[in-house]
Amino acid sequence: MRFADITGRTGVKQLLTSQVESGRLPHALMLWGAPGSGNLAMALALAQYVHCPHRSGGDSCGVCPSCRQHENLTYPDLLFSFPTPTAKSGRSSVSDEFYDAWQEFVRQYPLAPWQRWLELVNAENSQPVIRVDESAEIVRRITLGNYGESVKILILWLPEKLNPAAANKLLKIIEEPQPGRMFIMVSDNPSLILPTVYSRLQRIKIETPTVAETAGWLERQGFDSNTAMQAAEAAQGNQLMAQQMLDPQGEEKEFREMFQEVMRKAWLRDVKSLRAWSEKGAALKREKIRRMLAYFNRNLRLNYLFVLGDDSITPMMEADRHFSERFSPFITGGNVQEIMHEVDRASRDVAGNANARIVLFDFAVSLIMLIKKG
Ligand SMILES: [Zn+2]
Repeated sequence: MRFADITGRTGVKQLLTSQVESGRLPHALMLWGAPGSGNLAMALALAQYVHCPHRSGGDSCGVCPSCRQHENLTYPDLLFSFPTPTAKSGRSSVSDEFYDAWQEFVRQYPLAPWQRWLELVNAENSQPVIRVDESAEIVRRITLGNYGESVKILILWLPEKLNPAAANKLLKIIEEPQPGRMFIMVSDNPSLILPTVYSRLQRIKIETPTVAETAGWLERQGFDSNTAMQAAEAAQGNQLMAQQMLDPQGEEKEFREMFQEVMRKAWLRDVKSLRAWSEKGAALKREKIRRMLAYFNRNLRLNYLFVLGDDSITPMMEADRHFSERFSPFITGGNVQEIMHEVDRASRDVAGNANARIVLFDFAVSLIMLIKKG
């Protein structure tokens, strides 16, 4: 990954490269930003830049043996650590066992969508974490000798997934690494990182690109300029979100249909159809149900803003707007908070392993009352 492969963010790129050139790059760095911000891509570009002997003009060369090994994720002094699921046997697992999946993930999904990772490691019904066995591996691998002269870099994806024992085991090497070692942690949600780890990291925020930059990026992928601009605006510049909105096979379309159906049937007080809806929803994987519910809340907020006549802050995609024009009168200041609260509760219950069919049916039935009340 070269910096040139990352859309926009010239400020951060300049900051990082100037730190490398002046020898002031922190040995424990955290690059953080919203999911889909390209924080992992930025970490990869930085590591490649550090290791490229022919870097110039603020970027790695992209063609030397070192750069090519980086592109293949085979550079010997570039290590990775990331959340892994519990093995089928219940045994703990470490990153190395999932390195093939990781290579595929990084190459195909440089914006690092969590749900793709879950699919790649078949963990859609469990929550991958970083465990103490993995920390022991990190300590072992980082303290081994370096390959050649280069700095040994460990990119740790999602330090918020370190469990307490795993975090504790890393404190010493993060605090006082051996010479020639560097940690780059990549976080989607720093507020969930254990304070002992968080406080030891130098933090740099990776902003999302501007709407215009993301629209340009979509156009380069072949979308017409209108569609590209609409998605970039609706996603407020977030590339991953914009990409998902435009993916015809993507979840967005499925979630939109589920949302519109449950709202419509609740308004009609069609309990039989609501039961069928909840059965359809319950057939999805648990994590997917939660993503669907997160989509519901995002859409409810947009619908409410639509009632207020203010969709300029978060413009909608055409397919959402079409529905909202008819539906939004039923989402008002009187019920929107309660409905969103019900969505949150359903999401929590699903996360807590409650029977999804019952949770979704309860939610659907609660909508009947709430929609009328508004
Ligand atoms: Zn190079």
